[in-house]
Amino acid sequence: MEDDRKMYDATCTECGAACQVPFEPVKDRGVKCNDCFRDGKPRRQGNNRNWKKDFEVKCAECGKDTTVPFKPTEGRPVLCRECFKK
Ligand SMILES: [Zn+2]
Ligand SMILES: [Zn+2]
Repeated sequence: MEDDRKMYDATCTECGAACQVPFEPVKDRGVKCNDCFRDGKPRRQGNNRNWKKDFEVKCAECGKDTTVPFKPTEGRPVLCRECFKK
């Protein structure tokens, strides 16, 4: 069965892979293959800090919700930044 959508052969300007896009590639507009397109998606206004993994915890001192860059150990109180400084 033929696909209704017309696909155009293109070359990904990001990685150079041959790919197909559902629109006619425009010369001076970059074409991205699916992989590169997906990779580019999460980029949000340069606010893409590479935090590894933050764990949401409640500060044992003030009860504030906070995040810590390590896995909280059970039975050990976790303090938010402010309380930790005290
Ligand atoms: Zn690509
Ligand atoms: Zn606190």
